[in-house]
Order: sequence, then structure tokens, then C-alpha cells
Amino acid sequence: MSDEWNQNPGRYGAPNDEGQISLLEAFDRAVALLPPDNFARDRLMALRAEIAAQEEMVGDAREMIEKLEQVIKKVTSPANRIGTFLGSPERDTAQIVVGGADYYCNVDPRISLARLQKGTRVLVNEAYVIVGDLGFETAGPVTKIAEVLSDDRLRVGAEHGTQSLVLQRSAQLTKTPLKAGDDVRVDANYRVALELLATPQSRDHYLDIVPDLPWEKVGGQEEALQAIRDAIELPLLHEELFQKFQHATPKGFLLYGPPGCGKTLIGKATAFNLTKQLRNKSGADMREYFMHIKGPEILNMWVGESERMVREIFATAREKRREGYMPFLFIDEAESILGTRRASRYSSILSTLVPMFCTEMDGIDSLNEVVIILASNRADLIDPAILRPGRIDRKIKVNRPNKTGAREIYRIYLTDNLPYDSGIIEGAESKAAAIEALIDRSLETQFAKREENRLLEVTLRSGRKEALYRSDVISGAIIASVVERAKAMAIKRSIASGNEEGISEADLQVAFNAEYLENEILPATDITEDWLKLIDYDPDNVVKISPVRLIDRAKAKPSSGVI
Ligand code: ATP
Repeated sequence: MSDEWNQNPGRYGAPNDEGQISLLEAFDRAVALLPPDNFARDRLMALRAEIAAQEEMVGDAREMIEKLEQVIKKVTSPANRIGTFLGSPERDTAQIVVGGADYYCNVDPRISLARLQKGTRVLVNEAYVIVGDLGFETAGPVTKIAEVLSDDRLRVGAEHGTQSLVLQRSAQLTKTPLKAGDDVRVDANYRVALELLATPQSRDHYLDIVPDLPWEKVGGQEEALQAIRDAIELPLLHEELFQKFQHATPKGFLLYGPPGCGKTLIGKATAFNLTKQLRNKSGADMREYFMHIKGPEILNMWVGESERMVREIFATAREKRREGYMPFLFIDEAESILGTRRASRYSSILSTLVPMFCTEMDGIDSLNEVVIILASNRADLIDPAILRPGRIDRKIKVNRPNKTGAREIYRIYLTDNLPYDSGIIEGAESKAAAIEALIDRSLETQFAKREENRLLEVTLRSGRKEALYRSDVISGAIIASVVERAKAMAIKRSIASGNEEGISEADLQVAFNAEYLENEILPATDITEDWLKLIDYDPDNVVKISPVRLIDRAKAKPSSGVI
């Protein structure tokens, strides 16, 4: 046996090339070599059962130890950090940010670097090697885009007291159109914008439609229109000439005057006509982007919120310019946000808003970028810092229409293509002449200084009392509304008679009376402050205003026979 053992040890249980055999297998092989009648066989078989039991026990113990070792390894090994993957600057190298610090690091070969996306979370071990791809985070801080700087750079933050930051877009956002004012979710390291969140208040909130508004659709405002064309149209259309003469151009203008006299209308007409001229000059398909901002809507009690809105408005305007639009920033009731501190009970907000607005305005290079139009009924309250040269240094008065202006405005709304009462047209030289004669007759009555037209009594500081008539507070808005009422009356008559009835002189007169008795334009109370906004007197000069027909007006509501 010993010879055979020496020559072929594997056969008797020793390890061979294919690996180790178990003790039991070795034992069986050794027993198999004994002659079948060897007396030791029975004793060996009994021993075998014991060996089998012990071997099983050792196996179980080994397994248990291995498990324990694994547990000990797990509970004593340090935690992996989580970072944000920013890109792969070199082959086999990744750039990550962990806890605010940047690292160039290696990647575990089991992780495919090519499949890691910008903004995704990665697991890094103690040596800052990427050992896991955790995909994109689904929660995290949200911030607002202040400005889209370039395809991959977004400026965010800069809220009151916070720092402004520039973020990159994550792989998830490369194709998403982003704009100032959008809310985005950011990675925990504040480096990458991960997701665009739907915001209920879209920045198109301020967008207003500009209809076809050739200058001729604004009546009785020749002086104002001429001033605008000189201040805005000439520098834009003859830019090179202005540069040659180094002539300073304003960033916009202030329209001031009583309510309803066409400030908004003129603002929109400016946008319409200017964009049309620029389109003709450049041959490009340029469109206006008219942002209509109502001053009081900007006032917000949350600290920094008003400033954020102003910043967002300017950023939107600039972005729209880059997109090829001509942006117009029309700020209505401008004194409410750009007034002197005396002008508003929100003086603490104004003390930061006015300088901020000036800074934003100074950041605009020229009219070519954004045109700013301020509108106010109380220009005297606007902070002089806003009206300094180089900012909004053109103040343009939008006057209440006189009789000639009122005639022009009536003519804009009483067009040739409307049906008129046959009595008006008959015997006239032409339909146009008949309409003009109708307007003249109506104006004679409406502008007459008669008792039925008396509206207010104003007591001045000097003690003098002055009577104001309806024509002293007339406006384009009132005239437009009178014509609408007259049309409604003619329609009602047509329905009742079954024939086509036209607008009559009586319709215009009834409508005019109804307008003064019912229109919301006139304050319903006799509070001096409310009436002061309406009349053209210097507020410091007026002691008292007494509405003459207040009682009659109250009685007359609601009138019948007028739609
Ligand atoms: P507010 O100070 O109350 O904002 P506003 O001066 O801006 O008033 P608009 O809103 O421009 O007045 O005028 C209201 C409407 O009255 C216009 O949409 C237009 O229909 C008519 N209107 C006012 N003025 C004129 C005008 N000069 N020519 C033609 N229509 C006019």
C-alpha cells in the first residue's frame, strides 16, 4: 500500500490539481483500499459516522464565522459620501462636488463613466472614488431663475440678503426651454439645476396684447405723440446719427395726466408703431413684447419679494430682447412703487425699490434694448432719482381733451361703416360730413356751461370758488363709453322694431347723461382725495371739492332704458 500511496497520493485523499477533497472522501477512499474481509472495516465504518457528524459541525461553524466577519466589516466600515457628478474632464476621470468642494476622481471600473449624467448623484468611498450611481435626486431646494446667461448658465438667487449664484443645467434640462422667473429644483451642492417646476404665476402674467394701433387711433394728443416720436422714435430709427452727435437718449418716458385720457392707449400705440418701424427698417420679423405692470401689484409685504419681482421683470425684458422681440415695460400707477417716501405708506419698501429700479435701469444700454414707459396720475409724487437725465428724463403730459380733441376722439369711434339714423344722413353732402355735423351738434350740448352740466364746486386756498362742468372732467375713456352706450341703444331699438335703426343724436345725448350719472369713473363719494385725482388742479391749492349733483346721481341709479 505504501508504494501505491507514494506513487499516487491523490487517490488516497491528498489534494490533487483539481482541488481539495473532503476528509470524509479521503477516509472512504482509504477504507476502499482494505481487503473486503479486513477486520478493521467494521470499526472504521463506525468511526466514519463520527467523522461525518464532526465535519458537518465544523462546516456550520465556519459559515457562522464568515457571516459574523461580514457583519463586523459592515458595521465598522466608514459611510460613503454622496456627491454630484459634474462631468468627465479627462478620460477615466470624473469631476464631482461633495459637500461644496470639487474633486477630480477615479471611477470604479464596474461603473460606466460614459453612462453617468451631469447632475446625477454618485456614491464615493473614502478615497473619493466613484463606487455607485444613485441616479437623479427627486427632492431638494427650489430657487427662481433670475437670468438665463447662456445655454448652460443660469443666474439664480440674489433675493434679499442672499447671494446670487450661477448654476449649470443638468442632463435632464439640456433641452428644456428655461426663462427668468422659472422655478427650478437644485442639487444639494447648489451647482446644477435639476428640474423645472411648474409655477402657477408664469411671467407671461404681465404680457398684454397690443392691437393694431396706428397713431391715428389716438385722438386729441398731437403734442404728446410728437414728443414721444422725438424722444423715442428718432433715436431708434437714426441710431448712428445720434451716436455721431453723442446725443444722450432717454431709457423711456413718463406719461402723466388725468385718468382715462389715453396713457395706456398711447403706451400701446408707441409699442405698435415703433416695432412696425423697426420691422420695416431691419427687414426682420420683429414683434413687440408689451409688459403691463400695475404698480400696486408689485408691492408685497414679504421682505425682498417686491425687489425680486422688479428684477424678474427686467430680466424677462432683456431675455425677450435676446429672443428677438422689442420689449416695452409699461408701469401703470408708477408713483405707487417709484414714488417718494412721502407718497406711500409702503415707504420702507420704496426705500429699497427705487434704488434697485435705478440700478436695473442703468443696466440697460439703450432704448434699443428695452423701452420703459411710466404712467401716473400724480407725476409730482415720483422720486426725482427716477427722472434724472439718462433715466426717464422725458415727462410727457397727456392732456384732458378740449373740444377739438373730443371731436377727434368721437370721430375715431363713430366710424363711417356704422348705421346712423336716417335723419342724420338725409340731405348731407356725404356720410362723413353728416357724422361730423352730428359730433359738432353733440359737443355744443356737452360742452355748454349750463346748469345741467355743472358737476363740482372747487374751493381754492385763496377762498375763490370755481364751478367745474362735465366737459372739465371729460376723457377719451368717457367718450369711448358714450359711443358704446349709444350703439347699445340703437341695437335695442332695432330689436324692438324689427327694422335696422341707426345711432341718433338723442342716443348720444342720453348716453352722455347716463355716463356721468352712472359711470364708475366719477367717485361715488364726496371724499376730496378721490375727486382730486380726477381734476386738473394743483392738490396743494384746493381746500374743498363739493360734487354738485351727488344727490341727483344717487337717485338716478340705476337708470332704465339704457343697456
Ligand atoms: P388710467 O390713468 O385710469 O390708467 P389711462 O390714461 O391709461 O387711464 P386709457 O386706459 O389709455 O387711459 O384709456 C381707456 C380707454 O379710453 C382706451 O382704451 C380708449 O378706448 C379710450 N381712450 C382714452 N383716451 C383716448 C384717446 N385720446 N383717443 C382714443 N381713445 C381714447
